[in-house]
Amino acid sequence: MTVHEGTCHCGAISLQLRDQPTGVSECNCSICRRIAGLWHYCRPEVVTITGDAIGYSHGDRTLTTWHCGVCGCTTHWTAIDPAYRKMGVNLRMFDHALWQGLPRTLVDGASF
Ligand SMILES: [Zn+2]
Repeated sequence: MTVHEGTCHCGAISLQLRDQPTGVSECNCSICRRIAGLWHYCRPEVVTITGDAIGYSHGDRTLTTWHCGVCGCTTHWTAIDPAYRKMGVNLRMFDHALWQGLPRTLVDGASF
């Protein structure tokens, strides 16, 4: 099992990803285009978040986007509905060697 460790800039929030990204997703929805996240979508079971992230929900409130209250980095998003078994991890919190060479997919979140 490959385990990747990431943190926000100040280190208050750490992320452990027990999954191997093979591509990254960029989204043009109203929040993703502002925070410039590079998302790895996965099941919540493969991610461990340590630290007190601050949640932000808006619009139709299907997702909570989480960020560090100290340095402001957006670390991940989770579904508000616990039956939705998918979350997004911002790979920018991880070493660039993990993600910079991976193919990028544009997710047209602005259209749905
Ligand atoms: Zn931080």
